Amino acid sequence: TTSWQGKHVTVAGLGVSGIPAARALAGLGARVTVVNDGDDERSRTQAEELRAEGIAVRLGDGDTLPEGTELIVTAPGWRPGKPLFAAAEAAGVEVWGDVELAWRLRGPDAAPWLAVTGTNGKTTTVRMLASILEAAGLRTAAVGNIGVSLLDAVLGEQEYDVLAVELSSYQLHWAPSLRAHSAAVLNLAPDHLDWHGSMEAYAADKGRIYEGNTVACVYNAADKATEDLVREADVEEGCRAVGFTLGTPGPSQVGIVDDLLVDRAFVENRQQQAQELAQVSDVNPPAPHNIANALAAAALARAFGVPAGAVREGLRAFRPDAHRIEHVADVDGVAYVDDSKATNTHAAEASLAAYQGIVWIAGGLAKGATFDELVQRSAPRLRAAVLMGADRALIREALARHAPEVPVVDLDRTDTGAMSEAVAEAARLARTGDTVLLAPACASMDMFTDYTKRGEAFADAVRARSAERA
Ligand code: ADP
Repeated sequence: TTSWQGKHVTVAGLGVSGIPAARALAGLGARVTVVNDGDDERSRTQAEELRAEGIAVRLGDGDTLPEGTELIVTAPGWRPGKPLFAAAEAAGVEVWGDVELAWRLRGPDAAPWLAVTGTNGKTTTVRMLASILEAAGLRTAAVGNIGVSLLDAVLGEQEYDVLAVELSSYQLHWAPSLRAHSAAVLNLAPDHLDWHGSMEAYAADKGRIYEGNTVACVYNAADKATEDLVREADVEEGCRAVGFTLGTPGPSQVGIVDDLLVDRAFVENRQQQAQELAQVSDVNPPAPHNIANALAAAALARAFGVPAGAVREGLRAFRPDAHRIEHVADVDGVAYVDDSKATNTHAAEASLAAYQGIVWIAGGLAKGATFDELVQRSAPRLRAAVLMGADRALIREALARHAPEVPVVDLDRTDTGAMSEAVAEAARLARTGDTVLLAPACASMDMFTDYTKRGEAFADAVRARSAERA
């Protein structure tokens, strides 16, 4: 019950979260100033629009705390170490992220949240979860980094019974008071360490998702770090730890028995030991990492009381998003697969594990990662590698150390045009039956606006090649 009337709020960052946040706050009567590091054409246009609505905007200076600021609402990506936050701390000004703002404005009253985080698989799992909840006849949406923004979901006209919420480690860092109905951490592997400062800090931010859960904390039984986070969390009385496993589930777990997804955590009557949920073949695609995602989604839905039949129906109705292990075409007996969304080594490892005879296209921004383990584990499946992007030398060196027999082409390029050269090189190196796999293990921003553009560049090059051969 904060009174927003006349309150001086500084919104840090124009962008997907900043603009809706500024508008929502201004709508509540707050005096809003948006500060932004950049001062390019796009931000000038956006600034003009906001100014017309009575919102002040400062471009080209994201680090000076505006006079009189009582609260900062920051874009999740802004680093905790930025001078703006040091100034806020010195002035005793609180900092909220977009998720914290949504939660404080109406989070608990809008609908219960089923929240998902993890290094990889968040979007897929949240979309599977929303599909299951829909199949159960619930009014729901996949929100967070995808689809509907959290603020729109919480403040909009549409009513929801439950929300499937994707949360990044950045968003969790800036969301201290969030309390979910149930939450899952899918996996924990080094990523964004440059932002968080250390693996410990990254894990601690992810672990925030379990704080105050009321029904279930879902963890990955094959990833002890996620179980440790449950143990360390302060939850409501009666909240249960529920593991998901690709093996036979123990009591209080969901897992696989023969070809079935089975629930031993939320059985429907006491005589029952286990509830069959769906067949493995209902999961699309039925690759191991994706079956794990389906189990996590199923566990959250079951924690919310969804019947087994809806889990099965929802998984069957689910279709994966673009650029996630997407088969683009077969050309001359070689499959071309776009996993541009593999922006870190953990994700790339999952897709490299799904094929044999791989010509691997990789490289980009490493974000502080090392590639030794990935290369060591994947080496037996590599036919060749084609490298590009700013940090390609790190991958080249790891290949030289652990897979000296694998031929490597270093394109020595960081322009967008490099992708079609990469596809041509890969086609030259591939043999019949091989797979050319774009799984960069790196972020894309050195060469492309984002991973979708990178994936499209790959798919365009493949299609051009396919047209030439036809
Ligand atoms: P996120 O939203 O966490 O980035 P996505 O569902 O978009 O996750 O998947 C990103 C990439 O991670 C996919 O392209 C796939 O290669 C990989 N991936 C998906 N699920 C998993 C998982 N459970 N474990 C490891 N890698 C995964």
